[in-house]
Amino acid sequence: MRNEKLFSVFSFPVSVYFVFLRKNRGAMIGFSEDRLDETRRRGRIEVICGSMFSGKTEELIRRMKRAQFARQKVEIFKPAIDTRYSEEDVVSHEGNSIASTPLDNATSILLLSSDIEVVGIDEAQFFDKGLVDVCNELANRGIRVIIAGLDMDFKGVPFGPMPDLCAIADEVTKVHAICVRCGNLAYVSHRLVAGEKRVLLGEKLEYEPLCRVCYQRALEEAEAEKAL
Ligand SMILES: [Zn+2]
Repeated sequence: MRNEKLFSVFSFPVSVYFVFLRKNRGAMIGFSEDRLDETRRRGRIEVICGSMFSGKTEELIRRMKRAQFARQKVEIFKPAIDTRYSEEDVVSHEGNSIASTPLDNATSILLLSSDIEVVGIDEAQFFDKGLVDVCNELANRGIRVIIAGLDMDFKGVPFGPMPDLCAIADEVTKVHAICVRCGNLAYVSHRLVAGEKRVLLGEKLEYEPLCRVCYQRALEEAEAEKAL
């Protein structure tokens, strides 16, 4: 009798907690890889997009390093155009780095990925539109493809192959910088120097992350200055 009572007191709450934990596992843990076991992650496309200073490359490096720890064969490619920090490495604003191969065009990725399990692509917005078919082909071969890139240029226009990559991706993570003027989430990389050229490699001197409201205000200020 005493044992039965003990059982009824303890068994109910334990089972309730168990159901709660199972149901809320996804909600409590922020990172997507924790919801999927690594062995099921083959043959897929993940896109990490956002403005400058939003931590895109940092997140790409984090996922690539985890794959390395899991003893998977990884390779990271970047467009040869991006030479801001290092010719060979992908380097984040935080200073983290991982070895990479600079390439002139997207189709070269197919030739260099024959025995790779996880392909990383940084600054994808600078690659040609052929990158979309390349990523599909890689994923169809069973390769996990992780792409980081700017979603929009300094005018807020979708950048290169990024919109198409977001469309074909299995998973899209949009990351945000902080607006330097008001502290809200930033939406665009506002260019601080004059010039209409779409590609201007730069850093904190050339670009500032702004939210939608502060970006509109910055454009109005620039127009007013021109009128003077
Ligand atoms: Zn703002």
